[in-house]
Amino acid sequence: MTRRPLIAGNWKMHTITVEAVGLACRVAHAARGYADRDVLLAPPFTVLAAVASELIGTEILLAGQNVHWEVSGAFTGEVSPAMLRDVGAGYAIVGHSERRHLFGEDDAMVNRRTVGALAHGLIPILCIGETLEQREQGETMAVLTDQVKKGLAGVTLADPHALVLAYEPVWAIGTGRTATSAQAQEVHAGLRSLFVDLFEKQVAEGVRILYGGSVKPDNIDELMSCQDIDGVLVGGAALSAESFGRILQFRQNG
Ligand code: PEP
Repeated sequence: MTRRPLIAGNWKMHTITVEAVGLACRVAHAARGYADRDVLLAPPFTVLAAVASELIGTEILLAGQNVHWEVSGAFTGEVSPAMLRDVGAGYAIVGHSERRHLFGEDDAMVNRRTVGALAHGLIPILCIGETLEQREQGETMAVLTDQVKKGLAGVTLADPHALVLAYEPVWAIGTGRTATSAQAQEVHAGLRSLFVDLFEKQVAEGVRILYGGSVKPDNIDELMSCQDIDGVLVGGAALSAESFGRILQFRQNG
């Protein structure tokens, strides 16, 4: 099954409006002529509307960096699926390791966010990943399986495009330490088999699985040449149009 590559940039807590609009404009320029892949940006909530307006007429997709499960209500500091859709975002990152580790979001909350996003027509980008200690203890697949099962509890997936999974080893995020393409490929193949166990085969085989963790211009081609890596979620290198431009212009080897 061929899965359309997805190159996603997570801007985290960076950019005020003028910077965000300029960066989006330069990314859109870099993406011209690369119609065989999806490019997605996840700017901070405060600049989403301005970035959406800048990207009118392009195919670039937008995501929120998190999402609540209710449409509205007394949830100070949260942003609802309806609010994201209102400003042109079709996706939402959920369970990013910074949310899990710095803000205490557990699998139950990640599940509520995922289910809420799906229920309100947003595509969740569900992030999972093991710590260095868990990897060294040989627990990687057990940890990831648990995160997938808990994160997707109660989800019946009928459409492979309704969900994106992002494998982001915690030890590789923002550290400059990338998983080797062999390490990433091995995990992605394991996650694919897990999805085949959990969902109908045709659906499981169509879900895109992204790799994230210190992706850069000099490792993108090798990562994207792996059979089970369908795209990447990029943090630091997404803040420069030059580096993110080269990443989205990846070339598969061989
Ligand atoms: C991320 O924020 O999801 C990420 C992978 O960050 P970085 O590329 O900086 O490691």
